[in-house]
Amino acid sequence: RTVLGIESSCDETGVAIARVHDDGRTELLSDVVASSMSEHARFGGVVPEIASRAHLEALVPTVRAALAEAGVDRPDAVAATIGPGLSGALLVGSSAAKAYAAAWGTPFYAVNHLVGHVAVAGFDGGPLGECVALLVSGGHTQLLHVRSLTEPVVELGSTVDDAAGEAYDKVARLLGLGYPGGPVIDRLAASGDPAAIPFPRGMTGPRDARHDFSFSGLKTSVARRIEAAERDGSHLEVADVAASFQEAVADVLTMKAVRACTDLGVRTLLIGGGVAANSRLRELAAQRCADAGILLRVPRPRLCTDNGAMVVAVASALLAAGAEPSALTVAADPGLTVEVTQVV
Ligand code: ATP
Ligand code: MG
Ligand code: FE
Repeated sequence: RTVLGIESSCDETGVAIARVHDDGRTELLSDVVASSMSEHARFGGVVPEIASRAHLEALVPTVRAALAEAGVDRPDAVAATIGPGLSGALLVGSSAAKAYAAAWGTPFYAVNHLVGHVAVAGFDGGPLGECVALLVSGGHTQLLHVRSLTEPVVELGSTVDDAAGEAYDKVARLLGLGYPGGPVIDRLAASGDPAAIPFPRGMTGPRDARHDFSFSGLKTSVARRIEAAERDGSHLEVADVAASFQEAVADVLTMKAVRACTDLGVRTLLIGGGVAANSRLRELAAQRCADAGILLRVPRPRLCTDNGAMVVAVASALLAAGAEPSALTVAADPGLTVEVTQVV
């Protein structure tokens, strides 16, 4: 059976097609992404109205491209992200998916974007078992306990203020590096000294029992450092700030993720979301997981950012488990929480 999945929660219009084999194995046949990111760059962040309009324009061509690349005329099921995300953006993709499902007479699956960031790892390195998932993106920073994709995901902790990707974007703006900040800082950090400035590691003390994160103090500390240099006219090596900031983020994320695995006795750590593309995070996670005897899974960077593959990954798991389809009347939910894999 083949499944078509549509992702439109933020600024990427993603359409992917997968084949679910009888033995439960899922094969990705196509994964096409059209991004409106460049249209948001001059505003320093995603503008919801521009994103919705871009989805509207990109949707049908992207569906056609995905079908053509997969060599599929009519899939056996259609799925879409129903939340969380920008309401207008979600509305475009989920309404289109419902319309395709109605026109083709196929079942429709309304899936959770956050679960998609976890499930997509199944396309890199084989089927997913129980794991702790560190989800780090522009809008989210969470530690999750995943038993299987068809059981409710348990949130172990989340950020109490900024998301990790948001911190990257804000610090890049402070340094005048442009948007999105993650890739620029990542590149610049390579030529800086990660030990140059001892930036604070939020919520890493012994009393922080819950697996929560805080990045606003780090961002403020970077701002203070820049202000101080401007005030006393001293030279500030931007690459050193980038490297030291990146080190602080990677240190906190990996420390807390490994601690969550150890506390729960879970032997697999999965990292997903746009920030999982970060080179230092990947490196430090590999090192600390090896030291703790934990298997680390990080999908290739292309699968970490928003795409249709994450939607078909969830839908394929639901299909393989014989889950009931969603009603065509389900509404997009911008605030959908991670416990809900599928909205019926
Ligand atoms: P969400 O998935 O939470 O709805 P989103 O669409 O913003 O939000 P993604 O597309 O998964 O999330 O990720 C985008 C974020 O990832 C941006 O904040 C960007 O700066 C960050 N990012 C991308 N590449 C890197 C990198 N190499 N290092 C650090 N951060 C990165
Ligand atoms: Mg995005
Ligand atoms: Fe995302």
